[in-house]
Amino acid sequence: MSVLTLGPNSVSRYHRGVTGIRYVRCHESDPALRGNDAAERGHAQTTEIYRFVEYRLPMSQPSPEVYERGKGMDAHNQVMREIRSEKEKHYDPHEPTRVWLDEDNTPDGVVQSLTIILNTGGCRWARAGGCTMCGYVAESVEGGSVAHDALMDQIDVCLEHEAENAEEPADLIKIYTSGSFLDEREVGAETRTAIAETFADRQRIVVESLPDFVDREKIADFTDVGLSTDVAIGLETATDRIRHDCVNKYFDFADFEAACEEARDADLEADGVDAGIKAYLLMKPPFLSESEAVDDMISSVRRCAAVDGCHTVSMNPTNVQRYTMVDELFFRGGYRPPWLWSVAEVLESTADVDAIVVSDPVGHGSDRGPHNCGECDDRVQKAIKDFDRRQDPSVFEQVSCDCEATWEYVIEAETSYGMPLAR
Ligand code: SF4
Ligand SMILES: [Zn+2]
Repeated sequence: MSVLTLGPNSVSRYHRGVTGIRYVRCHESDPALRGNDAAERGHAQTTEIYRFVEYRLPMSQPSPEVYERGKGMDAHNQVMREIRSEKEKHYDPHEPTRVWLDEDNTPDGVVQSLTIILNTGGCRWARAGGCTMCGYVAESVEGGSVAHDALMDQIDVCLEHEAENAEEPADLIKIYTSGSFLDEREVGAETRTAIAETFADRQRIVVESLPDFVDREKIADFTDVGLSTDVAIGLETATDRIRHDCVNKYFDFADFEAACEEARDADLEADGVDAGIKAYLLMKPPFLSESEAVDDMISSVRRCAAVDGCHTVSMNPTNVQRYTMVDELFFRGGYRPPWLWSVAEVLESTADVDAIVVSDPVGHGSDRGPHNCGECDDRVQKAIKDFDRRQDPSVFEQVSCDCEATWEYVIEAETSYGMPLAR
């Protein structure tokens, strides 16, 4: 029997067919605890710490039955529907969900931005059950959509907010819907063109959409009025298996590549402005150990940056939102949001890619958000924000903390079958 623990390459090991798992007793002070030797040599001295170890069995691949009705994605959706149904739904179709002012790194440099979360009646996928980390609750409005006039009222509220709080109009407008702006059941063609006209005097617009709804004609509605246009796609990861089984998102990386191709075509047809894709990645969905999450993000950033048409990757750590599967796991001690050291590690080791790579750790430093030890969180967050602006990995050389040693141990020793290893 060959004994091994899940390490930095455990996803690929998993694919190679590591399937057996058993408990082994180890002693806390045993230096061999850090490796596989303690288990292999069988010289555990006390029962204080139990570790999972795994051993190779004949190759195992997910069988089609896993995805049968009542299992796999069906089961995820059923659980998510039950969890979401606990939340009361409040709904005012004339008010945006949120609006705020910020600054962003774009292909035109760092610019002031106005971010709008439109209330559109909701994501179709959330209504089916939806993603394991997404606290967005599909609103139960009649027909599941918001009328044109109400959506334009929401835009007016956002413009008023900007006029009151900004010195001048933002160059960049970002519109998210907690769904798909380009899904015509959420935002009809009439509203899409009216919004394009409203912001025609700005430089750039970002709209959020799942890849299925991205096509060159819809993008042309914006480029035709002189707006450089980016479609933000919540890809979450380039690894299909993780996207399907950990995030519960239904599409494939190939769909993302097809959307990038549409954007590329729109870019070729656009006159004097550009069109492209901004990929959103999710660091550490449930069921992955810290090292698996880091590995997944490093390979995802690289794969996205290599796709023509994708000029920006926004890699964001999971935070624990209410009414989600992640929240249920967190409540029972089965989930810890990623370390900020992990975010820094991914940004630092992918700094050479040919794309802008940024991260915006929401809720940093809190139990429910990405965090380190509590002492260094603000400093590491500041370094991440510096990196976002300057893309210079040396910003991370200027931050350090004793908790890095704990993080390194977690990276080395945490397994998906026994986590979290640290709070
Ligand atoms: S993450 Fe996006 S696709 Fe998934 S349920 Fe939430 S809004 Fe829908
Ligand atoms: Zn620390």
